Amino acid sequence: MPKEKFQNVTTWVFDLDHTLYPPDANLFHGIQEKMTGYVMRELKLEYQEAAELRSRYWREHGTTLASLMLNHGIDPHPFLDEVHDIALDALSPDLDLVDSLHNLPGRRIVFTNGSKEHARRVTRARGIDGAFDAFYGIECAGFTPKPHRTAFDRVIELDGFEPGTAAMFEDEARNLEIPYELGMQTVLVGQKSDQAYIHHQTDDLTGFLRNLA
Ligand SMILES: [Mg+2]
Repeated sequence: MPKEKFQNVTTWVFDLDHTLYPPDANLFHGIQEKMTGYVMRELKLEYQEAAELRSRYWREHGTTLASLMLNHGIDPHPFLDEVHDIALDALSPDLDLVDSLHNLPGRRIVFTNGSKEHARRVTRARGIDGAFDAFYGIECAGFTPKPHRTAFDRVIELDGFEPGTAAMFEDEARNLEIPYELGMQTVLVGQKSDQAYIHHQTDDLTGFLRNLA
């Protein structure tokens, strides 16, 4: 019974993209296209080359931005502003999700590899911004992304929570390995994985949270 596993959880950590809104909103595609455009312009590449490089960089370092900083010394701030400047029309308020988040006992935070401002805009569009106590973007983690341990260490220190009393919700399995090692309950949302570091999996975040309260 999952409920018992969450009995001592007092900090609830949520990824943003494809965790707090469904992938079919296709928002991330818009961000990826902006990133590809950025790579084309800055590195003077054709579309296909730029798209492949963006994807390879994401695989290698957790975010395209991390690789662009490392390999090309780009300034992260204008990059983040540009790639997150997308329309959020595809998102609608989710009153059931708001309700299930509010019922969780303790502190609720967002931890995204996107920018903090992106997290605020997206949660506002979903009507769930008021359910969160804090938002942590990539800039809060010194631009080191999940799945790297440094990113988790920084956010845990900033927020001041004890990993042994926390749970992490994510749509990317690889981002749950370190939380598992740190003693957090790990929940994979909307995806399937047979990795041992995944404690729980669900296609229905709202329903899953409702069963915990
Ligand atoms: Mg995600």
